[in-house]
Amino acid sequence: GQARLVVVGGGFGGASAARFARMTYPWLDVTLIEPKTRFVTCPYGNLVLAGTRRLEQISHGYDGLRARGVNVVHDWVAGIDPAARSLRLRGGATVAYDRLILSPGIALRWDALPGYDEAASEIFPHAWVPGEGAQTTLLRRQIEALPEGGVVGLAIPDNPFRCPPGPYERISMIAAHLKRHNPRAKILAFDAKNAFSKQGLFQDAWGELYPGMIEWVPASQDGRITRVDPGAREFESEFGTRHKVDVGNVIPPQSAARIAIEAGLANAGGWVPVDPLTFEARQATGIHVIGDANVAPPMPKSGYVANSTAKQAVASVAALLRGEAPPAAPVYFNTCYSHVGEDYGISVVGVFRPNPDGSGFVETPQSGGVSPRGNHPEQRRLEALYADAWYASITRDMFG
Ligand code: FAD
Repeated sequence: GQARLVVVGGGFGGASAARFARMTYPWLDVTLIEPKTRFVTCPYGNLVLAGTRRLEQISHGYDGLRARGVNVVHDWVAGIDPAARSLRLRGGATVAYDRLILSPGIALRWDALPGYDEAASEIFPHAWVPGEGAQTTLLRRQIEALPEGGVVGLAIPDNPFRCPPGPYERISMIAAHLKRHNPRAKILAFDAKNAFSKQGLFQDAWGELYPGMIEWVPASQDGRITRVDPGAREFESEFGTRHKVDVGNVIPPQSAARIAIEAGLANAGGWVPVDPLTFEARQATGIHVIGDANVAPPMPKSGYVANSTAKQAVASVAALLRGEAPPAAPVYFNTCYSHVGEDYGISVVGVFRPNPDGSGFVETPQSGGVSPRGNHPEQRRLEALYADAWYASITRDMFG
């Protein structure tokens, strides 16, 4: 019969892989397993917080993939048996595969930050996994209800985590809302790091657009939050200081999604080491792991990288199923746009390859970079438009 590719996770990596597989290798039988019938993207979720996008505008269904011949199954994968090349669904069925692509995303580590568990996230939302959008809606409502002159606190984790510029775009988009509706409010951003993505550009923009509103506290100035108390609405930092916040957005430490860990694919840090050419897990043949779940520094955990690497993983799977060598010398791309204000976008670009000894990834010298600092209003305006165009094109490349 037909060679069977099963894809787990219908997000950035998985939807891209399923669609690309059907379009490029029509001889493949492609099944996509994803519990949700609507996928709410994390990208542009920060604009929902700002009130400039609605949740419906960033929600996507799977009919486009069905129309392309993908067999879409809405269920959870409960377990994988790599030796038998099959997986078990929560609904009870068993699904056999010849090759498996896993793109299950991240798990929030409920054990990593004292005081922060699933119940706590109903008071201090994370809004960091796509879900049904309930967390984003909750955080949006809290920001809208912030008392006049109130304090929004953010707790930002150490590396590695999903979307390196994401927390700082979020700070910006919350500030954009507050500037209009609650101009005396403050944002206190506590960080477990001393530096962050596009830092100079973000901080320049904050000074320009939101003077006096945002205070970013690095780890070296006691920014690392080590305990939270949702009942008392407090964050406690490493050196024991307690900070009162009216709204708390806690982005906890993360790992690969549970299914990847339970299948025995992850390292001690909770992420999945992979071959940089094929994305096959180091711990299992026949299982390719893409997206945020894998270990791929210096590439960031971004939707763009998940989409770009999905194509090489699919091409590798197709070649291996035909007994051929996977495509050599791939190039992987990333662009992360961030909105920092209305008509104000910035970006970072990276071009990556497997390194020659196959041990990991390297950034291509003299490629990529960040937007220039300084006064460039026309470029900022254009980059906000490019970001919108990027969102339209990547979601079409996933679901269209
Ligand atoms: P996901 O997209 O999370 O998809 C994983 C899917 O797997 C989920 O739908 C889940 O339901 C499913 N799944 C998990 N376990 C199972 C199971 N056992 N069985 C079946 N299905 C399962 N990236 C960018 O490139 N640009 C941006 O501007 C950007 N902005 C961001 C802003 C924010 C606020 C955040 C939080 C992230 C942002 N990102 C951005 C990062 C981007 O969202 C992630 O990198 C991307 O979603 C990773 O894709 P993935 O396929 O690994 O995981």
